[in-house]
Amino acid sequence: MEIKLPEKVIEIIKILKDNKFEAYIVGGAVRDILMGKEVYDWDFTTNATPEQMLKIFSNSYYDNEFGTVGIPSEIEGERPYEITTFRTERKYDDKRHPSEVKWGKTLEEDLKRRDFTINAMAFDILKDKPKVEVRLIDYFDGQKDIEKKLIRAVGEPQERFSEDALRMMRAVRIAAELNFKIEEKTLEAIKNNASLIKKIAYERVRDELLKLLASNHPYEGMLILRESGLMEIILPELEKTFGVDQVSPNRHHIYDVGTHSLLTLKYTALKNNDPITRLASLIHDVGKYQTYKKQENGVITFYNHEVVGAKIANRIADRLRLSKKQKDKLWRLVRYHQFTVDEKQTDSAIRRFIREVGIENVKDAIDIRVGDRLGSGARETSWRLEEFKRRLVEVQKEPFSIRDLKIDGNQIMEILKIKPGPKVGQVLQILFEKVVNKELPNEEEALKEEVANIGKGLS
Ligand code: ATP
Ligand code: MG
Repeated sequence: MEIKLPEKVIEIIKILKDNKFEAYIVGGAVRDILMGKEVYDWDFTTNATPEQMLKIFSNSYYDNEFGTVGIPSEIEGERPYEITTFRTERKYDDKRHPSEVKWGKTLEEDLKRRDFTINAMAFDILKDKPKVEVRLIDYFDGQKDIEKKLIRAVGEPQERFSEDALRMMRAVRIAAELNFKIEEKTLEAIKNNASLIKKIAYERVRDELLKLLASNHPYEGMLILRESGLMEIILPELEKTFGVDQVSPNRHHIYDVGTHSLLTLKYTALKNNDPITRLASLIHDVGKYQTYKKQENGVITFYNHEVVGAKIANRIADRLRLSKKQKDKLWRLVRYHQFTVDEKQTDSAIRRFIREVGIENVKDAIDIRVGDRLGSGARETSWRLEEFKRRLVEVQKEPFSIRDLKIDGNQIMEILKIKPGPKVGQVLQILFEKVVNKELPNEEEALKEEVANIGKGLS
């Protein structure tokens, strides 16, 4: 078959082959080419050992942790090209030294150790001129599984997941990225082995979860995560919210808390692709499990659920080893997701909201609100929400403090020909109040003029 390949990819294979080694394109790149997708990440496999590769590629380096040789891309920002020697095992979470890794002898041995059929194919380049001609090597019917949109373990799924539990998370994440289903036996094996995920370093689980959230199909991915039994282990607080009823007289909620949470993620994701915002949308109501109260008249309340939820968010952030910054954002978005959009609230109440949720998170908070509304069966927006959005912009145009005035103490001293002293502060205070009360625009010229006027009054 004929395909297009970047020059550099052809060159890497050619250098290996010129040195009498076997060399193939493998893994995600083959899968993505067959699916007609753009490839960002090229993986190669060869029978050359890392030492042999270091000799023939001048600027290559040895990634000690995985026994992979990297060749930096010449294109800025592009990931390095990774070449891995045929392996007979492929466990990513072991801490073994690569010298203990057993190299494989054949391509087949290498492909057999890969995770899923769609990831276990290789391209052999037969000709690179005038057009690139390749032969697909597909021992496990990966191409058929692409057509059927299935993630299927290579070999015995039960064995493959007990060998390396991270593969279970990879299955769900790749399903979410490609919008595939997990094949029946493979899914069954994940259900049986889900608890093994506890053995995996949480950093790796986090990476997969954040990739799942950032994917094009996070909602579908979460449904699979739940069905696979993995949600119960990595996000037990969320699992508990399924079946928590919130139907009550005169309220619009038509779904249980868990279903509503997934739907909120689904709709938030249409507007926002930041994985932490998406995670916040998913867990914004986790506090409802602990705060559920059914009153005698049948009305269900979740008093203070955002406060309880924010505590749970912190716990989740710690478990997932989120960075300090990510944890702070997650907490704020959950803690303040109940912000009020009442048209009668004061400017200072709106400013307080901005301060609390964090100015850099305001848009994310609004996106979650829209997702929350759509995920409860409400309309996307309301006139109150639109008015609130307008006022958010409006209040930010006004100075929050004297420091935001477009004039400073030095300029005032110059205009009034005075020395440093309390008078400077008094003038600033007068200007500030006039600007806040809209008697004066916060513009340099207007402020200077006003200072001059004040000066006339003073003398
Ligand atoms: P992407 O790079 O788009 O996330 P990918 O399939 O290329 O997807 P990588 O993590 O780059 O994923 O891994 C490259 C290849 O290595 C995979 O396609 C798969 O063949 C193999 N692989 C990765 N992780 C494992 C694992 N835990 N067990 C078995 N094989 C794996
Ligand atoms: Mg890859």
